[in-house]
Amino acid sequence: MNNTNNQTSPFQQPVILTIAGFDPSCGAGIAADLKTFSAHNCYGVAAITALTVQNTQGVEAVYPVNADCLRESIQALLDDGRVSAIKVGMIGDRANAEVVRDILSKTGFLPSVLDPVLRSASGRSLLDEGGLKVLREELLKFPSALTPNTEEAAALTGLHVENVEEMKIAAKKLVEMGARAVVITGGRLEKATDVFYDGSSFETFITDRVKPDNTHGTGCTFSSALVSNLVLGRQLRDAIVLAKVFVSEAIRKAFPTGPGRVPLHHLYRMQQAPRIADHSAALAEPEIVH
Ligand code: PLP
Repeated sequence: MNNTNNQTSPFQQPVILTIAGFDPSCGAGIAADLKTFSAHNCYGVAAITALTVQNTQGVEAVYPVNADCLRESIQALLDDGRVSAIKVGMIGDRANAEVVRDILSKTGFLPSVLDPVLRSASGRSLLDEGGLKVLREELLKFPSALTPNTEEAAALTGLHVENVEEMKIAAKKLVEMGARAVVITGGRLEKATDVFYDGSSFETFITDRVKPDNTHGTGCTFSSALVSNLVLGRQLRDAIVLAKVFVSEAIRKAFPTGPGRVPLHHLYRMQQAPRIADHSAALAEPEIVH
């Protein structure tokens, strides 16, 4: 495919590619990623690894997309030449994990965040056993940062991970397994505590729990906010702090969209404007009507 449009615009935003699953209730997965990129003034493009059937009450089914379709989708987006960062979320199965490995092995110069999504909060597996093996043995080493929650860190390392000390041990093991930097998110601890380890030093970030457990898509949102801050030029440590603040605020402003779990309000910053903006000037002199 040819790239013929090289014009620049003062409104230009960095382009981030998300490779992730689709949640039709739009609290997690690709939809959460795209909203989070937009909230950070970044432009998101997306390659779908799997369709899920779900609503606020849980995931009912998972349909991984064909690996050739995923590979071609990603390649087409990369061929446009503007992707400047990559986020990987739910992968689905082994064939798609191999596609992601092939892509990340060739795009190591771009900032990237891998959120090793394994199962939904409702208990549905979002990555098969073969995919987990590829993730553990091959994918881990590529991204700028890996963002497992405590359960994912336990599954990847085989360790017990339920408190800050265990999170530190697991983070160290993940780096020994090849990860460049790790943030283990502990949103379910008494205080929301994340442990960062980059192979040289640990840092622990603690915030009060904003609301109880009923939030949906927190991991997707955190990893997307992290990659957005990286592509905007922040250092990893600062990007983590800003992503954590964004997630806390998006949880604080969340509202129910169904009877089940509550999606984060990714675009809460827009809500600070009045709900019906004052468009009287544009309506009085409509430049677009001829
Ligand atoms: N669906 C998709 C497509 C996801 O990527 C994820 C998590 O990353 C989920 C569902 C599950 O989200 P949660 O664990 O918040 O229920």
